[in-house]
Amino acid sequence: MKFRLLLALLVLPLGAQTTPFGTKVSDPSAAPATTTAPAAAPAAAPAAGGVSDEFVDNSVQVSPFRPTLLPEAKSTRTFQLSKLNRLGSTETTKELQRLYSAFATQSIVDGSPAGSSKAVGYLTTVTYSVLQDLGDNRYLAKAAWPASGPNEALAAGVDTMALLLLEKPAKAGDTGKITGMHVGTVAVLFTPDFAPLKGRRLTLRREAFLECATLEDSPAGLQRFVEAITAGAELSATTNETIPCKKCGGLGFTREAQKGQLLDKRVPCADCASTGKLIIAVETKFVP
Ligand SMILES: [Zn+2]
Repeated sequence: MKFRLLLALLVLPLGAQTTPFGTKVSDPSAAPATTTAPAAAPAAAPAAGGVSDEFVDNSVQVSPFRPTLLPEAKSTRTFQLSKLNRLGSTETTKELQRLYSAFATQSIVDGSPAGSSKAVGYLTTVTYSVLQDLGDNRYLAKAAWPASGPNEALAAGVDTMALLLLEKPAKAGDTGKITGMHVGTVAVLFTPDFAPLKGRRLTLRREAFLECATLEDSPAGLQRFVEAITAGAELSATTNETIPCKKCGGLGFTREAQKGQLLDKRVPCADCASTGKLIIAVETKFVP
């Protein structure tokens, strides 16, 4: 599969006319969102040059991606390889391994010069059963996936229809499990060929996943990672880190002087819910 091309297409602005999932629908926001609603009639024009099959319009239109916005890291720091395991430095082998594991799960293998790129959407394991082949390796499938991302930014899917872009051809009824990169919600205008929707021209708005492979989380993978940084590659990993709460200094409360009292009043810290700790997304940039 032309993975690099796909990735290039994925990062196109929303105004782009085509996407890996197909041709732009004029106004995806106007499309009905329910599975039972019939398609808006004006949008159901047959594909140019298409031959109708007993007046059944089998053309497929898929709206552009609406990429999920990955959370911005709240803080950045650097990990300096040359400081590795130096006395008093935070750059330890264990920390490097932990950060590499995060990097590996946030990167997808592709044909770029570095061999991989940062994933542009949440990665999750998608279990599926193909309902319909929509052409161009796009499939409507019954799918399930666990929640992914910080604070479960991508909610879990349970027995729900989703659009999949698979690496290999598949046919209705095929089942499988992929690592899927969530590429947002798309509206697909098509004619189902499965019960109970068979033959009804309609639009579904569904989560879309691109099948991909993540980097190998292994000593060899870590070795290549270190070599790439040494050679000047700009790589980073985003992780959730627990830091002391700034407002209360990690105490979980602030003090308030009480008139005529010797002891200060302790006010529970709202910023950290009195835990003294905050969990924030931190981007760690690696430098030689
Ligand atoms: Zn606090």
